[in-house]
Amino acid sequence: MSKPEATDERRFDHAAIESKWQRAWEDADVFRIEDSTEDPAYILAMFPYTSGELHMGHVRNYTITDAYARFERLRGESVLHPMGWDSFGLPAENAAEERDTNPREWTMQCIENMRDQFIQMGFGYDWEREVTTCEPEYYRWNQWLFTQFYEEGLVTREGRELNWCPDCETVLADEQVEGPDERCWRCDTPVVTRELDQWMFTITEYADELLEALDDLDGWPNNVREMQRNWIGKQQGASVEFEVEEYGPVEIFTTRLDTIYGATFFAVSPGHALVEELAEENDEVAEYVERAESEEELAETSGVFSGRYATNPATGEEIPVYVADYVLEDVGTGALYAVPAHDDRDHAFAVEHDIDIVQVVEPTDDAAVTADDIDVQEEAYTEDGVLSNSDEFDGLESEEARERFVEEYDGEFRTDYRLRDWLISRQRYWGTPIPMIDCPDCGFVPVPDEELPVELPEFIHTTGNPLDAAEDWKHVDCPTCGGDAVRETDTMDTFVDSSWYFLRFISPDMEDAPFDTEQVSDWMPVDQYVGGIEHAVMHLLYARFFTKVLNDMGMIDGKRSNSVREPFTNLINQGMVLGEDGNKMSKSRGNGVSPVRLIEEYGADTARLFVMEAAQPHKEFAWSPEGVESAHQFLQSVYDLVSTFAAGDIETEAGGAIDSYVEREIDATAATVTEEYEAFRFNHAIQAVRDLVSLLRQYSEHTDPDPETFDRGVRTVTKLLSPVTPHVTEELWELLDGEELVAEADWPEAEKPANYEVEKRLVENTREDVRDIIEVAGIDDPSRIEIAVAPDWKHRAREIAKEADGDVVGEVMQDEALRQQGNAAAEFAKEFIGQEHFDEQLSPDEEAEVLDRATWLVEREFGADIVVYGADEGPESLVSKATPGRPGINIEQ
Ligand SMILES: [Zn+2]
Ligand SMILES: [Zn+2]
Repeated sequence: MSKPEATDERRFDHAAIESKWQRAWEDADVFRIEDSTEDPAYILAMFPYTSGELHMGHVRNYTITDAYARFERLRGESVLHPMGWDSFGLPAENAAEERDTNPREWTMQCIENMRDQFIQMGFGYDWEREVTTCEPEYYRWNQWLFTQFYEEGLVTREGRELNWCPDCETVLADEQVEGPDERCWRCDTPVVTRELDQWMFTITEYADELLEALDDLDGWPNNVREMQRNWIGKQQGASVEFEVEEYGPVEIFTTRLDTIYGATFFAVSPGHALVEELAEENDEVAEYVERAESEEELAETSGVFSGRYATNPATGEEIPVYVADYVLEDVGTGALYAVPAHDDRDHAFAVEHDIDIVQVVEPTDDAAVTADDIDVQEEAYTEDGVLSNSDEFDGLESEEARERFVEEYDGEFRTDYRLRDWLISRQRYWGTPIPMIDCPDCGFVPVPDEELPVELPEFIHTTGNPLDAAEDWKHVDCPTCGGDAVRETDTMDTFVDSSWYFLRFISPDMEDAPFDTEQVSDWMPVDQYVGGIEHAVMHLLYARFFTKVLNDMGMIDGKRSNSVREPFTNLINQGMVLGEDGNKMSKSRGNGVSPVRLIEEYGADTARLFVMEAAQPHKEFAWSPEGVESAHQFLQSVYDLVSTFAAGDIETEAGGAIDSYVEREIDATAATVTEEYEAFRFNHAIQAVRDLVSLLRQYSEHTDPDPETFDRGVRTVTKLLSPVTPHVTEELWELLDGEELVAEADWPEAEKPANYEVEKRLVENTREDVRDIIEVAGIDDPSRIEIAVAPDWKHRAREIAKEADGDVVGEVMQDEALRQQGNAAAEFAKEFIGQEHFDEQLSPDEEAEVLDRATWLVEREFGADIVVYGADEGPESLVSKATPGRPGINIEQ
């Protein structure tokens, strides 16, 4: 804990004030939102997995939404900003095993810890809407939704070759298998395959809408939309059959049927049905398949010749059949004809295995390259073009050829997707039991609504599927025939829980439905969603799928004109907080930073300010002790300034000379900060506040400030900072005798003064020029600085030059008044020849007025007397040097 130092500076003790204001917010129900509220701003951070401890990523994610929610509230919006717990999943089971407890106890303890830490961070949530996915009150609705989806025909059960993690002893979804060497996302163990019957949601039925609607999600980052497009992986092409000797027809899928004349080999994935037969007679194939199925990482160009040939239906030629790992089993048909001249991967394979490369597409006349630029022996030409070496089809364009060849070779147009149905079965304990009963006579029967929830039995320590070992729980009567039956012993993927939790927040206590349709139809969609990029394809795609299904089921009102079919209007993915060494924070690297210790040492406000100041939300940044120190010092200096004023220890006097300068800066800062908060550029907003604080300090040091102006200044600072650093600003608000909590105050609405940016630039440039002259001339102690604005005629000449077309000097000199200036005007006009961009400029009188207003700052900086001359007042020697926006300057020693 930091102690006040023995200086004159007033300092605050974060430990004393933070808990005080957290209680005050709770007592005043600041963050509560009534059900009767009409369409509030719905601001949501992805709810955390209940690991037990906050990490810096959480601090960043939740500070962003909290600051934004507070900002919207201050602007008069009703705000829904809830929080809950993504609390099912394997890590809790593992943690329970390690600690010899059970997942429920472990998880509940984690939730307690994390809730305390959230409160300590000052995050303002409506805790009455808290949602915990591992509670039966929540997961009963997972079960109910499952049975509804089942009735809608959106659930299937199929045997599948599945990704199996031998270490976690569970099936993994494709999304949970990571990297080129296919490892478990949780434990990094190489994944193997197994055939098992599994429950699936048929998300593929929504593939087209999920894809097309991405185009309209303007509030989402482009990279996330692109990741979803790739994940859905829609390909339009055709299938045709190649005859493989001693086997029969094998179907291939291609998007480039126009290149069929260039096929010089045929390739099948190691998992293709044909390969099973080949492996029996060919040891080399058998060995290759084994290697491909093991964890071994095979080269992109690896593969073996099978000893057989396939007939190209276009040419009648026999081409060799290879087994190759680069052909993916679940993409297309798992078999393809390879055209090395026009496909990069086929090319690499052909070079490695010394297979012919035959060009059959030439660039069109209007292509970026000519036929001479292309050497397909060196590199594949992958663009569309005009056919060659294709018999009577030579000269046909690629697109036309694709249509023709489908008929010609008995093919079929086909659309293929990379997206697979969503496999939700998990052979683990800590999840939602899948509400199905397996009867020897009736088959699978859904658990009737009135028997939901199917609650989890007591935790069983076992290496296999724990629910399978729960004998008493497992055996039930069949709901249909009453005979002996067993429960489904798989639990649901936890991504089911997170696919609709944002709906439960809207009516968290609803007892007879997962959510209130009318309320949800009014409050959805989420206006601003914030979370990690790692959820770009799984969670964000599943949540979209659920929303569309629920809308189709009429549960989210489909009757309104503004029907909710997308859950999240605006999305921000926050970047990572890296360790001080620039690497990802991790235990093994020892570069992690504990938010709890940060709160203890510096306070929550410092932690919040640091993460918001370090970078814009989507960018990553490295932890910096200096950055934390700087944030802390800034807050102490704000506290010092405002509390000193509040205590009456700053002498004031009404009607000072520089009030209007400060007044304009206060308005400009409020306007800038509003704009920057709206655009989520919190770092820019904070910089603007820092500048205003510095200005107010200079103001109070330079003169006895006007009491009203200064009061407005410190109140504005306090309010503008309050979304990011709510505790210390609440303390200051109280000292300023604010009548309410700053969390409930009105936002300082202000317009930027007219011409503000131009004026600011004039003052900045002038101060910069003074600094340069002092440096270049080696002046140690300037006593007097004269500043003269440019005369009227130069402004006039500049205006004419700006409009001139071509002969700048000629046009300027046509003006009678300017002609009277003679050679000086012509020389001045020459400077504009060729200039295309003209900044906006003030009139000479305005320039003089602006410089006059800012004189005190120049005076303070250089410790000299300042004289500002108006347009026709200055000495000729000085005026002659002046141009619009760049006054003439003379400095006396
Ligand atoms: Zn694993
Ligand atoms: Zn039955």
